Amino acid sequence: MLKPQSKSDPAATGFLPYGRQWIDEDDIQAVAVVLRSDFLTCGPKVEEFEGRFAARVGARHAVAMNSATSALHVAMLVTGIKRGDRVITTPNTFLASANCAAFVGATPDFADIDPVSYNLDVVALARSWQPDTKAVTAVDYAGQPCDMPRIARFARERGAVVIEDACHSVGGGIAHSGRVWSTGGHPWADITVFSFHPVKTMTSGEGGVLVTDNDAWAENARRLRSHGVVKDPALFVGLGSELGHQRGSQLAERGPWYHEMQNLGYNYRITDIQCALALSQLRRLSDFIARRREIVARYNAGFGGLPWLTTPALRDPANRDCISWHLYTVQIAFENIGKTRTQVMTELRERGVGTQVLYIPVHLQPWYRQRYGYGPGKCPVAEECYLHSLSLPLYPAMTDADVDRVIGSVHDLSAETK
Ligand SMILES: *Cc1c(COP(=O)(O)O)cnc(C)c1O
Repeated sequence: MLKPQSKSDPAATGFLPYGRQWIDEDDIQAVAVVLRSDFLTCGPKVEEFEGRFAARVGARHAVAMNSATSALHVAMLVTGIKRGDRVITTPNTFLASANCAAFVGATPDFADIDPVSYNLDVVALARSWQPDTKAVTAVDYAGQPCDMPRIARFARERGAVVIEDACHSVGGGIAHSGRVWSTGGHPWADITVFSFHPVKTMTSGEGGVLVTDNDAWAENARRLRSHGVVKDPALFVGLGSELGHQRGSQLAERGPWYHEMQNLGYNYRITDIQCALALSQLRRLSDFIARRREIVARYNAGFGGLPWLTTPALRDPANRDCISWHLYTVQIAFENIGKTRTQVMTELRERGVGTQVLYIPVHLQPWYRQRYGYGPGKCPVAEECYLHSLSLPLYPAMTDADVDRVIGSVHDLSAETK
C-alpha cells in the first residue's frame, strides 16, 4: 500500500490543490534511463507502454499520443466522422470531448445529464438524436462509468459510432450482468480514450491513448499520429501509375528511404520519455485507485450530516468497488449557507484547501453559442448542476489528516455564518 505521509511531497503539508500528480523516485529513474538512451522519441518505450496498457484494460490495441485531445481527434478521423455529421456528447465535460467533432467539421451537439451521476442521460440522448447523428461521445464524469450498455445499444441500433471519453476513469470498470468489465476493454465502446495529464489518475506529463479492438482503426490511428506515413512495403501503392512516363522506372525504385504519405496526418506522437513515466506510473495505478477510493469513502462519511451538501451518488451501486475516482465533486446549496461560490472558494483557499468548478457546461461557452446558436435552457440539468458544483481536493498523496482538514473546513463554512 502507498504511504502518503512522505515529507518530501510538498502536497503532504500546506496547500491542498484539487488534484495533483504523484511522482516518486522510480518514476524519476525510469525517465532518466530514457534520457541516457538512444531514443527520446519513436523508440521502444512507446510500444512497450502500448502493449502494457492494452493488456491492462483488456483491449486489442492501444495507440499512445501526445494528448487525449489528439486521441479524440484521431478517433473522429478513423471512424469517418466528417462535415455534415452530428456528434452528441455531454455538456458536463472538458472542452475537448466536444471540440474533437468540430476538428473534423462535424457538429458537436449536447444531450443533458442525469441528476444522480451527472453523466449523459440515455433518455435525453434519445430526445436529442437527429437523423444526421453519427457518433456519441460518452464521458465517465469524475470516474463514474456511464450507462454504456444502454447508450451503446441505442446508438448502434441507429448505426452510430460509440466513443468513450474515459479520461476520468483510467483503471476503472463497469459492473454488468454479474461481472466487472474494464473501462476500455468492454464491448460497448468502439474506441475508448484516456488522458495522462498530471491532474488525471496517472500521468506522462502530457499524453493520451486511444484503445480499440478494431484492427483497421488502430492501424489508421498509428498512421495519422505520424503524418499519415506508411512504411510497411505490403501497404505501398506507389508514387505514380504513369509507367510510360520517362521517370516511371526510376520512380518505381523503393530503396531504404522509401515511404508513402497516404493520408493527411499530424504529429501527435508521444515521446519515449513520456512513455517511460507512463509505464512507471501504470505499475502504481491500482494503488492510486485504491487510495482515491479510501479518500472518497472518508469524505462521504465526513459530509454525511450536512443538509446543504450532496456527496457523489452512484447510478448503479454495483459499480461501487470498480470505480476509479478522478474527481470528488459535491453539490452545495450556496443560498442555504448565505454565501456565493466565490466566497466559499476564497474561504477554503484561505484555509489551504484548493477547489475547482468542473465543468462550465460546454454548450454555454461563447464559441459554442456563437458558432452553433446554443444557449441556456438547452441542458437544464447540467446547467443546474453547474451552479452548485464544487470539486474538492482528491489525489492519492493526500493523508487522512489532509482529508480531515478539508472536511473540517467545509463544515465550518456554515458554522461561521451563525
Ligand atoms: C483531461 C480531459 C481531456 C483532455 O485530455 P488532454 O490529455 O489534456 O488532452 C478530454 N476529456 C476529458 C473528460 C478530460 O478530463
